[in-house]
Amino acid sequence: MTHSSAQNQQEVKQIFTDFLEKKQMRKTQERFAILEEIYNIEHFDAYSLYVNMKEKNYRVSRATVYNTLELLIECGLVKRHHFGANFSVYEKAYQYRQHDHLVCIECKQIFEFCDPRLQNIQQMVEDIYKFDIAYHTLVFRGICEACEQKKAASANTTPQIPSDA
Ligand SMILES: [Zn+2]
Ligand SMILES: [Zn+2]
Repeated sequence: MTHSSAQNQQEVKQIFTDFLEKKQMRKTQERFAILEEIYNIEHFDAYSLYVNMKEKNYRVSRATVYNTLELLIECGLVKRHHFGANFSVYEKAYQYRQHDHLVCIECKQIFEFCDPRLQNIQQMVEDIYKFDIAYHTLVFRGICEACEQKKAASANTTPQIPSDA
């Protein structure tokens, strides 16, 4: 069953509202604008989220973006992935299907995949180790198709011989 994104937006807003009230924090427009933006995009890094919002004329400071991200992680609406040194990306987490990632080490693009067999492995591991698994993270790093093709193309072109003539 698909969960409409409008309905999703309503629900995440409610969760964030309750969370802020519980923490006795201000429910500012900026915080909700950041939340809405996040639920309209895929993986992102904190700085480009800030730049994107600036470009859309939102009046948000960098500090607000970073602080809000921390709050959204705390209340479970956003997930942070560490894909490498100085390479962290965020993504929406509410009602979002369990998935794993492929990260291209050339262009840093992120692809998602979902394979039910991984769930079977998880189940097996739970049974064998009597371990109640809450979640898992799996990242495959390598070269994406586009980068692979670019590499092949540049390898096929004969090197230019510099002429001094
Ligand atoms: Zn690539
Ligand atoms: Zn993802």
